[in-house]
Amino acid sequence: MSVSKELYCICRGPHGDRDMVQCEKCEEWYHWDCIGFTQEQADDDFCCAKCLSAEKITEAKAEEKPKPEAGEDLVIRLLENLGDTEMVNCVRQVLAEEQKQSKNK
Ligand SMILES: [Zn+2]
Ligand SMILES: [Zn+2]
Repeated sequence: MSVSKELYCICRGPHGDRDMVQCEKCEEWYHWDCIGFTQEQADDDFCCAKCLSAEKITEAKAEEKPKPEAGEDLVIRLLENLGDTEMVNCVRQVLAEEQKQSKNK
Protein backbone atom coordinates (compact mmCIF):
# COMPACT_ATOMS: atom_id res chain seq x y z
CA MET A 1 0.00 0.00 0.00
CA SER A 2 1.40 3.38 -0.95
CA VAL A 3 1.92 6.00 1.73
CA SER A 4 -0.47 8.90 1.28
CA LYS A 5 -1.11 12.09 3.22
CA GLU A 6 -4.85 11.50 3.28
CA LEU A 7 -6.65 11.54 6.61
CA TYR A 8 -8.88 8.74 7.75
CA CYS A 9 -11.02 7.49 10.58
CA ILE A 10 -12.87 9.24 13.43
CA CYS A 11 -9.53 10.65 14.58
CA ARG A 12 -8.95 12.24 11.15
CA GLY A 13 -5.40 10.96 11.29
CA PRO A 14 -3.06 9.52 8.69
CA HIS A 15 -2.85 5.80 7.97
CA GLY A 16 0.28 5.63 10.11
CA ASP A 17 1.03 1.99 9.23
CA ARG A 18 -1.66 0.78 11.62
CA ASP A 19 -4.28 -1.91 11.05
CA MET A 20 -7.26 -0.39 9.31
CA VAL A 21 -10.68 -1.56 8.18
CA GLN A 22 -12.85 -0.08 5.45
CA CYS A 23 -16.55 0.59 5.90
CA GLU A 24 -18.52 -1.25 3.23
CA LYS A 25 -21.02 1.63 2.96
CA CYS A 26 -19.14 4.93 2.96
CA GLU A 27 -15.76 3.36 2.10
CA GLU A 28 -14.10 5.33 4.85
CA TRP A 29 -11.10 3.71 6.51
CA TYR A 30 -10.87 3.33 10.29
CA HIS A 31 -8.04 2.45 12.64
CA TRP A 32 -8.82 -0.77 14.50
CA ASP A 33 -7.92 0.68 17.89
CA CYS A 34 -9.92 3.88 17.30
CA ILE A 35 -13.20 2.01 16.84
CA GLY A 36 -12.44 -1.01 19.03
CA PHE A 37 -12.24 -3.31 16.04
CA THR A 38 -10.95 -6.81 16.74
CA GLN A 39 -9.47 -9.64 14.67
CA GLU A 40 -12.67 -11.70 15.15
CA GLN A 41 -14.71 -9.00 13.37
CA ALA A 42 -12.32 -8.96 10.42
CA ASP A 43 -14.18 -11.80 8.64
CA ASP A 44 -17.46 -9.91 8.52
CA ASP A 45 -18.37 -6.89 6.44
CA PHE A 46 -17.60 -3.82 8.46
CA CYS A 47 -20.05 -0.96 8.75
CA CYS A 48 -18.99 2.13 10.69
CA ALA A 49 -21.05 3.65 13.51
CA LYS A 50 -21.94 6.61 11.31
CA CYS A 51 -23.50 4.39 8.65
CA LEU A 52 -25.14 2.12 11.22
CA SER A 53 -26.96 5.03 12.82
CA ALA A 54 -27.95 6.38 9.41
CA GLU A 55 -29.35 2.96 8.57
CA LYS A 56 -31.36 2.87 11.80
CA ILE A 57 -32.89 6.26 11.01
CA THR A 58 -34.00 5.15 7.54
CA GLU A 59 -35.45 1.93 9.02
CA ALA A 60 -37.41 3.90 11.60
CA LYS A 61 -38.74 6.18 8.89
CA ALA A 62 -39.82 3.22 6.79
CA GLU A 63 -41.73 1.77 9.74
CA GLU A 64 -43.56 5.04 10.30
CA LYS A 65 -45.02 4.92 6.83
CA PRO A 66 -48.42 3.24 6.91
CA LYS A 67 -48.82 0.48 4.36
CA PRO A 68 -51.44 1.16 1.70
CA GLU A 69 -54.55 -0.90 2.33
CA ALA A 70 -57.54 -1.77 0.25
CA GLY A 71 -60.48 0.33 1.43
CA GLU A 72 -62.56 -2.54 2.78
CA ASP A 73 -59.68 -4.18 4.66
CA LEU A 74 -59.04 -0.89 6.36
CA VAL A 75 -62.66 -0.61 7.50
CA ILE A 76 -62.66 -4.16 8.86
CA ARG A 77 -59.37 -3.56 10.69
CA LEU A 78 -60.76 -0.34 12.10
CA LEU A 79 -63.82 -2.18 13.35
CA GLU A 80 -61.68 -4.87 14.96
CA ASN A 81 -59.84 -2.18 16.84
CA LEU A 82 -63.09 -0.68 18.06
CA GLY A 83 -64.24 -3.94 19.60
CA ASP A 84 -67.67 -5.55 19.77
CA THR A 85 -70.14 -2.76 20.15
CA GLU A 86 -73.67 -2.99 18.80
CA MET A 87 -72.94 -0.46 16.10
CA VAL A 88 -69.82 -2.30 15.00
CA ASN A 89 -71.72 -5.57 14.74
CA CYS A 90 -74.34 -3.81 12.67
CA VAL A 91 -71.74 -2.44 10.25
CA ARG A 92 -70.11 -5.86 10.09
CA GLN A 93 -73.41 -7.43 9.05
CA VAL A 94 -73.88 -4.83 6.35
CA LEU A 95 -70.38 -5.52 5.05
CA ALA A 96 -71.02 -9.28 5.10
CA GLU A 97 -74.25 -8.77 3.16
CA GLU A 98 -72.45 -6.64 0.61
CA GLN A 99 -69.78 -9.30 0.18
CA LYS A 100 -72.43 -12.00 -0.36
CA GLN A 101 -74.16 -9.87 -2.96
CA SER A 102 -70.97 -9.13 -4.86
CA LYS A 103 -70.20 -12.87 -4.93
CA ASN A 104 -73.63 -13.62 -6.39
CA LYS A 105 -73.00 -11.25 -9.27
ZN1 LIG B 1 -8.03 6.66 14.04
ZN1 LIG C 1 -19.47 4.06 6.93
